[in-house]
Amino acid sequence: LILRTHYSGDITPEKAGIEVTLAGWAHEIRDLGGIAFLVLRDREGFAQITLLKKRVDPKVLETVRSISRESVVQVRGTVKAEPKAPRGFEVLPSDVKILSAAEAPLPLDPTEKVDCELDTRLDARFMDIRRPCILAGFEIESAVLRSLRECFYKNGITEVFTPKIVAAATEGGTDLFPISYFEREAFLNQSPQLYKQMLMGAGMDKVFEIGPIFRAEEHDTRRHLNEAISIDVEISFADDKDVMELLEGAVSGAYKYVSENCTRQLGVLGLDLQVPKVPFRRITYTEALELAKGRPGVEMKWGDDLDRETEKFLGETIGEHYFLTDWPSSIKPYYTLPYEDKPEVCRGFDLMHPRMELASGAQRVHDYKLLVERIKEKCLDPAGFEFYLKAFRYGMPSHSGWGLGLSRLVMTMLNLENIRDAVIFPRDRRRLVP
Ligand code: ATP
Ligand code: MG
Repeated sequence: LILRTHYSGDITPEKAGIEVTLAGWAHEIRDLGGIAFLVLRDREGFAQITLLKKRVDPKVLETVRSISRESVVQVRGTVKAEPKAPRGFEVLPSDVKILSAAEAPLPLDPTEKVDCELDTRLDARFMDIRRPCILAGFEIESAVLRSLRECFYKNGITEVFTPKIVAAATEGGTDLFPISYFEREAFLNQSPQLYKQMLMGAGMDKVFEIGPIFRAEEHDTRRHLNEAISIDVEISFADDKDVMELLEGAVSGAYKYVSENCTRQLGVLGLDLQVPKVPFRRITYTEALELAKGRPGVEMKWGDDLDRETEKFLGETIGEHYFLTDWPSSIKPYYTLPYEDKPEVCRGFDLMHPRMELASGAQRVHDYKLLVERIKEKCLDPAGFEFYLKAFRYGMPSHSGWGLGLSRLVMTMLNLENIRDAVIFPRDRRRLVP
């Protein structure tokens, strides 16, 4: 059973004379006196199906006239070069079938002529993704993932999966979703952090995981969701500088891969992608505070977390990807390694896009005693971390790693305003369906 021999994208004027079977959606039907057009849309673009009323089989014409917009159709016909048609060809049909009729009215108009509210679009996401500019974004996301995975394989990093149902918080926060787990309470994991570190104690040396993280924070921003995909890496016998290099290479490599392999999608989006040059600028937290003094009306003390306004100001000032390094130990998690000679500063870093944070990483504490001390300093109870701490008592190499938010990488790459646009079925404070 051959429902389709070609995608619209496979056809060029040079293919004139060949017989093709196309399948897709009825994007548009125009009936103009002596001629009628059916524009068929598939994931690669459009094909103009031309019906010359004097020449075409009346049954085919009748079928085309009865097609409701967005119905799934199959068209068999002959390719003809036609300079006036989009992409220089049309298809003269010998047979048209309606495979699945669409009801009217449509929940939203996928022809991109009407711009509608994000909520309406997300409610009818299946229809929204029929719009070529929305589909293009998700195809690019897949290319980004492919590029990242290839980068990891090339670096000898093993892909792993760690549990998403867990008994305790990674960072002892309260921002966890509780779930009922038989007779106990469990949680959805906020990060694979503890598990990927335990795998360093397992001798796996270099691991990566691409999977969901869950954050029960009630934020209502354009860059936070309650479920997100995190790209996590952990490397043994590596320091913070080593994994920063890996991270900037992975990010700029993803841009390069997309710019070389997604030219059609970038064209649909009207984007001219600039590949960020490595190495990215490194700016210490202390230097960032100095820079932030250039912004009127801010009083920031050393040790304060950088607020959103400062983050924006730095982004505008720097104007390209950069690393923020050497954070105060007090505002980074307990597993971040303090400098030996100045323990108030640690080897934690954030990768920043001018618009927002993309990733956080660090060289980790691998000494058991120091780790217990750090947990206590953060007013957490080491007993709650016993399963994790155990892995540090029987030989744990030094290690470093990071977690990169997939949707933030894609939304900044594609200049999307809202992270919800970079996720097929986003989960936020209000949205649990579809
Ligand atoms: P932010 O300060 O921007 O809220 P974070 O520092 O809390 O982020 P991390 O715990 O460092 O986030 O997580 C690592 C990465 O995962 C972040 O840099 C970001 O790209 C992504 N990420 C974290 N939380 C979310 C979220 N709620 N929605 C989308 N992406 C997220
Ligand atoms: Mg962070």
